[in-house]
Formats: sequence, structure tokens, C-alpha cells
Amino acid sequence: MATGRHRYRFVDGEPRDGLKCSKCHLVLCDPQQATCCAKRFCKSCLDQMEDKRCPSCREPINCFRDGGINREIMGLKVYCTNSEEGCEWQGTINETDDTSIDTHLNTCPYQLVPCTNGCGEKIRRNSLKTHLTDNCLERMVNCQYCNQRGRYQLITSSSHFDECPDLPIQCSNEGCNMIPRRHSQSLHNETCPKAIIPCAYNTVGCNKVMKREEQEKHNEDSITAHLQLTKKQLGKL
Ligand SMILES: [Zn+2]
Ligand SMILES: [Zn+2]
Ligand SMILES: [Zn+2]
Ligand SMILES: [Zn+2]
Ligand SMILES: [Zn+2]
Ligand SMILES: [Zn+2]
Ligand SMILES: [Zn+2]
Repeated sequence: MATGRHRYRFVDGEPRDGLKCSKCHLVLCDPQQATCCAKRFCKSCLDQMEDKRCPSCREPINCFRDGGINREIMGLKVYCTNSEEGCEWQGTINETDDTSIDTHLNTCPYQLVPCTNGCGEKIRRNSLKTHLTDNCLERMVNCQYCNQRGRYQLITSSSHFDECPDLPIQCSNEGCNMIPRRHSQSLHNETCPKAIIPCAYNTVGCNKVMKREEQEKHNEDSITAHLQLTKKQLGKL
């Protein structure tokens, strides 16, 4: 039993001092009474003492369990420790009772519980469902582009986007507004009107480079030049 376990808000106001530990000043947890000075201490507070002397009068300590006080404490009415979150439960701290706060906290909708997906977060029991479907970083999702299934954290990470075959990527050719999927990027580039290409007559010696869409106009403008280059080339044969 841990020290300070009885850190509760009491329905009928602060319990009387006689129900509190003379060491930790919280409501006694498994109360022990010292024979030296009749002060009471939690069992856990005594267990933590190293010198085995009474914390109150410094005599070598000798204690007996105070069953009467314990019964009184077990009967104290407490609010749920999640009352500030909205839980309206009231009950006792009687550990052996079904109506005790320990039993209640196992089902209290406001109790913080670890995510059952193992993401490491603690969530109020009543929002666990939403967390698992909408927020958990470890929930299973499909990539919105390639539909690959995996943990949210991975599927939305840059390492997936770096290899996602269907990720839309803006064409890098200046002036092109197309956003082809990654897998069709090179296909697009072969027809992209804004791609920089060498003149179709480069094989006969035209050194002009231009956007693909300008080829036609260039051909019209360069009929003579292209013809001469072609003749020259033929002459070499
Ligand atoms: Zn104590
Ligand atoms: Zn004492
Ligand atoms: Zn509760
Ligand atoms: Zn989670
Ligand atoms: Zn993907
Ligand atoms: Zn393009
Ligand atoms: Zn040309």
C-alpha cells in the first residue's frame, strides 16, 4: 500500500485529525497506533522509516493495528478522484467492498487509462473509443493516395511520402501546372508541353533547346535553316 493513497475529497468535509497519520498528515492507510505516545501512523509510513523510532516522540517504536479507527476510515464517504472531470460517483474507501472507490475506478468513465493500442498516451476511459478511431498515432489507416494500410504514424510520415507511388507531385517544369502521381511523373515529362527539349533537328545540327510547346513555332521559323542543315548533313554522306 503506497503512502498518500488516501488523498481523497471527502463528502462530509475534512475528517477529524484523529483519523490522520501523524507523519504524512493524510487520512490513515492501514492505521497503526504507537504504544509510546498513542499517535497513529500509516503502515506504509512506518515501513518507510529507517531508524525505527517513533516520528513523534523519538522512542523506539512499537505499534499495533488500530482496527476501530480503520473501520471508521473505511466508512468515510468520498468523491471520485475524477469528480473535477465530471464524475458524480460517491462511495467509500473500503478496499474490501464492491462499492469502494478502487472498484469504481476500474469502470469510472473519467479515469485515465493507457491506450489499448499501445501508443503510450493515457486517455479518459470515455474517450478511448474516439481516440482509437480518430486520434491514436498507432491506429491503422490507409494512405489517402496509394491506399497502403499501416499505422497512422508511419503512413503519414515523410518516409512513406518519400516512396508513396501515388503521391501527387507538382511537375517541376517551369510554367506547368500539372500534378501527376509519382509513378506517372516520367510519362508526363515525355509529353509535358513545358519540358525543355532539344530541337527535333538536333541530329542534323540544330542546337536550339526550347519548351516542347515551342517546337512547332520554331520549325515554322526555321524552315530554311533546318533545310540547309539537312542538305549539309546529306552532303557529308
Ligand atoms: Zn502516513
Ligand atoms: Zn511516540
Ligand atoms: Zn468516477
Ligand atoms: Zn493511442
Ligand atoms: Zn501512399
Ligand atoms: Zn509538366
Ligand atoms: Zn531547330
